[in-house]
Amino acid sequence: METSAWVWLRRDLRLHDHRALWEALQIEPATELIFIFDPHILNSLPRHDARVSFIYKRLEALNAELAPLGKSIRVVYQTPEDFFTALPNGHGTQAVYTHRDYEPYAQTRDASIEAILKEKNIQFHRFRDHVLFEENEIVKDDGTPYVVYTPYSKRWKLALATDKSRIETYNSESLLERIKPGSHPMPSLNDMGFDAVETPSVTPPEVRNIIDHYHETRDIPALHGTTQLGIHLRFGTLSLRKLVQYALTHNEKFLNELIWREFYQQILWHFPKVVTESFKPAYDRIVWRNNKEEFSAWCEGRTGYPLVDAGMRQLNTTGWMHNRVRMVVASFLTKHLLIDWRWGEAYFAEKLLDFELASNNGGWQWAAGCGVDAAPYFRVFNPALQTEKFDPKHIYIKQWVPEFGTANYPAPIVEHSMARERCLVTYKQALNQ
Ligand code: FAD
Repeated sequence: METSAWVWLRRDLRLHDHRALWEALQIEPATELIFIFDPHILNSLPRHDARVSFIYKRLEALNAELAPLGKSIRVVYQTPEDFFTALPNGHGTQAVYTHRDYEPYAQTRDASIEAILKEKNIQFHRFRDHVLFEENEIVKDDGTPYVVYTPYSKRWKLALATDKSRIETYNSESLLERIKPGSHPMPSLNDMGFDAVETPSVTPPEVRNIIDHYHETRDIPALHGTTQLGIHLRFGTLSLRKLVQYALTHNEKFLNELIWREFYQQILWHFPKVVTESFKPAYDRIVWRNNKEEFSAWCEGRTGYPLVDAGMRQLNTTGWMHNRVRMVVASFLTKHLLIDWRWGEAYFAEKLLDFELASNNGGWQWAAGCGVDAAPYFRVFNPALQTEKFDPKHIYIKQWVPEFGTANYPAPIVEHSMARERCLVTYKQALNQ
C-alpha cells in the first residue's frame, strides 16, 4: 500500500498524546512516521553533542515500542527539502502532518516545505503542541503582544480557565495499530558525523513529588528541588498538556514557570529580531569590554567567585545548571565583566542539554537588562549575598568547587564594588545618549 500520509516528528518525540499523529490516524489509511536528521541543524554542532545522542536514543526507544506491532519510524539523514521533494507527485501521498515550531529557522524551513508540497498537491497540516497558547492567541485588548510577564500570565490563566480543551489529551497511543507496517533501519550516529555520548534518560523522570514541594525547594541549588524536565519539554518526550493538568491542581509556582516558557516563546515569535538584537535597542549602544581571558575564566569556572564557578562547572560537567545560578552567572558576565550577553548566550546554547532558543535568549536578555520585563540595569546581583541567601552552608559550592577555601582557589578576577560602579557608569552612558 502506498503511503497516504506522513507524520513528521520534530520536537514531539513521543507516541502518546500526539496531536498530529492522532489527526492523521483518524482519516489516513496508510500513515508513516518520519524523523529527519537535518544537516542544516547538525552541521553547526560539535561531534560529541549530547542532544543529538538524546534524540537518537529516544528514536530507538520509540522504535522499540513500535517493533512488536510490526511498525517503525523512518529515520533519514538529509535535508527536509530533499526528502519532501523526492516524494512522488500526485495520487500517492495526500498529506503531511506535523506540529508548529516558532523558531526563525523552523519558520523558514516550514514555509519552503509548504511550497514544495503545494507544487505536488500534498496538504501540509500543522497543529499546536509545543505550547498551550501560541502566536497571537494571548495578546492585549488592542491586539499587541504582551511584553511584561505578569499581565501575560494573568491573561494566559484566564484563557485556560475558559478553554479547558487546551489541556485535553489526544489518545494517539490507542491508534498505533493503524500505522502502516514496516521496519526501517536507522542511519548510525557515526554516519551523521557524531559520537554516541552519555545522556539523561530519554524517558521523562517521575516529578510529582518535586512539583508538590516546588515552591519551597526551587531556589536552593544544593537540593534536587526542580524537575529537570527542560530537555523533555524541548524534545516533546512528555505531554505538556498532562504536565499543565498536574501543575494546575498542585502547584501554582510551578505553573508560573511553565508560563514563563510560553511567554518567551511568544516573544520570539512576535519579535524574531531578539535572536541577534537587544529587545530594547538603546542597550545595543553599550560598549562591552569583551575581555577574552575573563570570558575563558568565566566559561571554565575560575573567576574566584565560588557561586559563579560552581554554576559554570556544573554546566560543563552535566549540561545543566540550576536556575538561580543561571541568573547569577549571567548577571556576573554581563554586569561584573561587561561581556556582551550574546557571548554568554552562545556558550549556554552549546552546553545546555535543555537549550531552548526562546528561553535562553529571554533569560540572557533579562539578566543583561535589555530584554522584555528585564531586571533593571542598576540591579547588579551580588554573588556573595546570593550565596548567603541560597547556599549559606556552601553545600552546592563545595560539590562543584572542592578547592574552595584552600590556597588553590583563585582570587576574584574583579572586585565587586568597582565592577558594580563600572557597570552602572557604562550602562548609563549608553542609555543616556
Ligand atoms: P523547573 O524549575 O523544574 O521548571 C520546569 C520547566 O519550566 C523548565 O524545564 C522550563 O521548561 C520551564 N521554565 C522554568 N523556568 C523558566 C524560565 N525562567 N524561563 C523559561 N522557562 C522556564 N530554560 C530552558 O528551558 N532552556 C534554556 O536554554 C534556558 N536558558 C536560560 C538562560 C538563562 C541566562 C536563564 C537565567 C534562564 C534560562 N532558562 C532556560 C530558564 C530556566 O533556568 C530553566 O528552564 C530551568 O532552570 C530548567 O531547569 P528545570 O527543568 O529543573 O526547571
